[in-house]
Amino acid sequence: MNKIALLIFTFLMVSCNSKAQDSKKEEKFSINKTDTEWRAQLTEVQYHVLREEGTEPAFSSKLNKTYDPGIYVCAACGTPLFKSEHKFDSGSGWPSFDREIKGNVAYSTDYKIGYARSEEHCAACGGHLGHVFNDGPSKTTGMRHCINGAALKFIPKDE
Ligand code: FE
Repeated sequence: MNKIALLIFTFLMVSCNSKAQDSKKEEKFSINKTDTEWRAQLTEVQYHVLREEGTEPAFSSKLNKTYDPGIYVCAACGTPLFKSEHKFDSGSGWPSFDREIKGNVAYSTDYKIGYARSEEHCAACGGHLGHVFNDGPSKTTGMRHCINGAALKFIPKDE
C-alpha cells in the first residue's frame, strides 16, 4: 500500500513540476518548443548551451576569432542578437561583444559558480547565450558580453 501511495505521490509531483515549467515558458517567450523539438533541431553542443545553460570549452568555437562584417543570430530561432562591429578580442576564448542588439537579449541573475552573474538569453526563445561582465573595452561601453559560439549563427553581410 505504501509503495502505491509513493508512486501516486511521485507521479503528482512530476506532473505538477512540468506544468509549472510550461506555464512559465509560455509567459516569458514568444517562441516555445518542447524539449523533444529542441533536441531534434539542435546539435548536441547547441542543445547543451542553449537549453541546459551549458558552457562550451574555451577556444572551441570557430566564431571566436571571426571578425568579418555581418550579424550574429540566435542558433535556435534566428533572432538577430549581436553585430560584427561590436565584436572584440577579449582573449577569453569565447566570442565577445561590447553591446547587444537592444531588446533582443534578456537578462537574469545566476549563482551557478557561487556569486551573482548576469546571465543573458535570447529574448524570443529563451535560449541561454552566456554572461555579461563590466570588464569590457573602456573606450566603448565597458561591457563584455561573453557568448557561447554554439548559441550563435553568423550571417555574413552580403547574404
Ligand atoms: Fe532564440
